Amino acid sequence: MNQRMNKIGIIIETENGSVKETNFGMITLANRGNAQLYALMGENAASAGASLAEYGITTVVDLGLPEEATVRLNPDVRAKAVVAAVNELGLDGVFGLSSAEGKDLIPRVAAYLDAPLVMDCLDVDPENKTGRTSQYSGKVVADIQLTGDIAVFGIRPNAVKAEAAQAEATMVSLAAGADTSSALSLVSWDESSADDSQVSLAEADIIVAGGRGMKNGDNFSLLFDCADKMKAAVGASRVAVDEGWVPYAHQVGQTGEKVSPSVYIACGISGSIQHFAGMKTAKMIIAVNTDENAAMVANSDYYVLGDLFEILPEIIKQI
Ligand SMILES: Cc1cc2nc3c(=O)[nH]c(=O)nc-3n(C[C@H](O)[C@H](O)[C@H](O)COP(=O)(O)OP(=O)(O)OC[C@H]3O[C@@H](n4cnc5c(N)ncnc54)[C@H](O)[C@@H]3O)c2cc1C
Repeated sequence: MNQRMNKIGIIIETENGSVKETNFGMITLANRGNAQLYALMGENAASAGASLAEYGITTVVDLGLPEEATVRLNPDVRAKAVVAAVNELGLDGVFGLSSAEGKDLIPRVAAYLDAPLVMDCLDVDPENKTGRTSQYSGKVVADIQLTGDIAVFGIRPNAVKAEAAQAEATMVSLAAGADTSSALSLVSWDESSADDSQVSLAEADIIVAGGRGMKNGDNFSLLFDCADKMKAAVGASRVAVDEGWVPYAHQVGQTGEKVSPSVYIACGISGSIQHFAGMKTAKMIIAVNTDENAAMVANSDYYVLGDLFEILPEIIKQI
């Protein structure tokens, strides 16, 4: 018999000192199973308690990582700190976001714990340790049940809508502090080169994406302008990336990022099965295309038939 999870540790991601919005849906998911919820914090533990308690966190855990960025942000050091929390607090479940940070961290945690792992879950049932994922370019939805004492799940950002569930949170710090020894050294960490104005693709609530219909890289400035106005992220089809119009980090699809935004606006993208594999779980799809027979149009909630070079400037003007 597969036991339910009773104590779930949730790896919380922060940005500019605040808890990222995408954590709250993950907490809501963990809260479905009546487990005790522990927020595992590498930074900002003291200030995050109130917002986390609103969604059902009962214990905020300061992982005791040092201030120095090259040590604190080393994914190996962070993974060991999460493992120390799991062992000290007797946790039997670990949740984290399948974000860029999570993809670097969560598999390390599972490996150190020698625990089974499912990444990129669209849903999790904590009562029977089952994660739901999309497989084979979205042709199959698989429910994967984990066995063993500890189960680890990576949750696709925005897959679950956050629902408030007020709790009282207490704060604890790891007794021994973090073990900072590692075979991996983070040599430097330069935040000045990051463009803070750009929203992360995996975590964006709105995505404006372009494909071959954009015709060249310069025209992508239309999408960046539009995204800037809507606090959205810019996505791209593989054609746009292979042509060198935008970097690979923008690619959505089977071999790119898997996203679940509230709104996905596909401009000049035909809707290949490989593109859909990365965005079919968007809550609303809007297609902008000249071809009424395009699969993206057929599978959209709303579509605008026409030339994107006329439609996008009009959208930007209206916003
Ligand atoms: C193993 C494998 C993995 C792959 N992984 C991915 C992946 O991760 N992501 C991905 O996207 N693709 C992936 N592909 C490629 C995929 O098969 C398609 O080739 C690609 O998605 C097509 O990109 P597109 O829609 O931009 O181009 P097209 O299919 O050429 O479509 C262009 C669209 O733009 C429209 N259009 C043209 N001009 C305008 C205009 N002025 N205004 C409005 N609309 C216009 C056209 O009507 C058309 O619908 C993969 C393929 C393989 C084999």
